[in-house]
Amino acid sequence: MKITTQENIGKLKSLIDNAKNILITTHVNADGDAIGSSMALALVLKKTGKEVMIITPNDYPGFLHWLPGQELINVDMKNPGKTKLWAEKADIIFCVDYNEPKRLKKAEAEIIKSKAIKVLIDHHPFPADFTDLKISVTKLGSTAELLYYLIHELGLQHLIDKDVAECLFTGIMTDTGCFSYSCSYPQVFNVTAELLKHGINKDLIYSNVYENFSESRMKLMGYCLNEKMVVLPEYNTAYISLTEKELQQYNHLPGDTEGFVNIPFSIKNIRFTALFMEKRDHIKISFRSRGNFNVNQFSSRYFNGGGHLNAAGGEVKQSMEDTLRQFVKLLPEFRKQLT
Ligand code: 5GP
Ligand code: MN
Repeated sequence: MKITTQENIGKLKSLIDNAKNILITTHVNADGDAIGSSMALALVLKKTGKEVMIITPNDYPGFLHWLPGQELINVDMKNPGKTKLWAEKADIIFCVDYNEPKRLKKAEAEIIKSKAIKVLIDHHPFPADFTDLKISVTKLGSTAELLYYLIHELGLQHLIDKDVAECLFTGIMTDTGCFSYSCSYPQVFNVTAELLKHGINKDLIYSNVYENFSESRMKLMGYCLNEKMVVLPEYNTAYISLTEKELQQYNHLPGDTEGFVNIPFSIKNIRFTALFMEKRDHIKISFRSRGNFNVNQFSSRYFNGGGHLNAAGGEVKQSMEDTLRQFVKLLPEFRKQLT
């Protein structure tokens, strides 16, 4: 798979050859692709003798804590000093699995002002111009798959071992919803087959990611479906909202609501779903769609967000009531696209 020009590959090769300290950054509310891709890149670069650090803006889900290379992660919210130190000493900063710098939250300022050469590796549409080099392939289901090709293009494929393969597999598995979407092309299965050859245990990885939650998370899911899901058949839409208090009642931890937004799709004819979560000073929203309804556009137009055609996020600084009212009011305008 051709992912960028030979010129870019040449530039990146020489940047890496001449670098000593390499910082890898990924997006707020990191998911399996964000962590898997960052970790795979970090492990490969470590093997070439580089000093490497990964920054995540906030805490990342417990179901990703088993991945190899945890000691390489600095959670910026907990230790911003370390982010600053690394932003200053880094020769290269990789921007992995996000397309605009605001996704770094509080770490954005340090990363943007760093003198390091910045390199984007991402699959989100419409990447912003904030890096020196851009490796963006939006037709791929995951950044992890893109990274697999990039590692080969850089001639570093001999450094893919079982640990790296586990990280890449996790990224591909989670961003394709266990191979249920964003993977209707043969090449992704070739890559997966190659990763399996490294001796990874795919059943164990599945279990580590999807069968690793608390009892209270399961009860929160039940509560959502029983008490909080609103189905609007006339718009083929369903949404769930959760207040901060409700989340606390169910001992909510980062990652606990991952996947909740997809559940209403099991209802016949539902084509558009949303999950609204009240945080300390904002409402975090997830949107998902089936078919051609572009939730990336919808989210960036009305909810300060972005993402992919069928999966996007956003956030607003207003009350839950106002946010839900705004959302429901918008639906008639999109009725045609939703049927
Ligand atoms: P989620 O709903 O899981 O937070 O996000 C769904 C997808 O949209 C992910 O690919 C995520 O990276 C992207 N995304 C979420 N929030 C934002 C946002 O505020 N801006 C942009 N550009 N992308 C977002
Ligand atoms: Mn991704």
